Amino acid sequence: MEKEKMRKSNKIGLFFKKCGQSFMNLLFPEDIKCLFCGSDIPNFDDKPYCDECEKVLPFNDGHRCLICDEPIDNEANVCDSCQKNKRFFVKAFCPFVYKGLVRKAILNYKDKNKRYMAKSFAKFIANTVTKTGIKFDYISFVPMTKKKEKERSFNQSKLLAKELGKLLELEVKEVFEKTKDGRLQKNSTFKERQENIVGMYKLKDGVKLKNSDVVLIVDDIITTCATINYCSGLIVNKVAGVYVAAIARNKLRIVKDNKSDPLVPF
Ligand SMILES: [Zn+2]
Ligand SMILES: [Zn+2]
Repeated sequence: MEKEKMRKSNKIGLFFKKCGQSFMNLLFPEDIKCLFCGSDIPNFDDKPYCDECEKVLPFNDGHRCLICDEPIDNEANVCDSCQKNKRFFVKAFCPFVYKGLVRKAILNYKDKNKRYMAKSFAKFIANTVTKTGIKFDYISFVPMTKKKEKERSFNQSKLLAKELGKLLELEVKEVFEKTKDGRLQKNSTFKERQENIVGMYKLKDGVKLKNSDVVLIVDDIITTCATINYCSGLIVNKVAGVYVAAIARNKLRIVKDNKSDPLVPF
């Protein structure tokens, strides 16, 4: 009788264990699959993508702007936009160019609610940032309006910042608040975008900043720098230094045909 009871309880235990495993796999499927194409890979922790994807991944490792990390086609060290416009951040770090597989993966992460991808994206950013040797005091992120965050159910930049915070062992601080949404025209100039953005973001009430702080602001994609530049500008005179990081750098261009990637609205 006792034996029968034991057998039954073991069976029940096993059943729950199995359920737990499937549940965990649902939550963390990244442990086994390529981040970009979903195929099986041998060791996710070493490399979260397969050999085939590796061949075509758009790493942002070519000649690029010393300030905003945008790929540059000519010999200049600083891009036209950074030469013409004042930057309030010292430097941007973006491990990828926003195109191809990376663009697809980021859209999946944001729009299809694949939150587990944040951890891997954060690893790429962490590798890039760690190489610089800069010591940050904390991480912040580009906020969403409460309405937008509710619609999407999560803020992709906040989640990235949290995962990055775990990897770099840094606190994540909510420094900014987005007070209103606004759509910006694809073809608007940097100046127009910068003007449109005034009043969209502000410092969060009660946030305390020290003039010795070195801050890293996280966003998902950097396109025109207008958003991160504006947020950087809100704190630049109150802290020691502002740096920014994103998964990918979108090369700014005027969209003239439908085949191009559309510029990402803020
Ligand atoms: Zn792959
Ligand atoms: Zn630049």
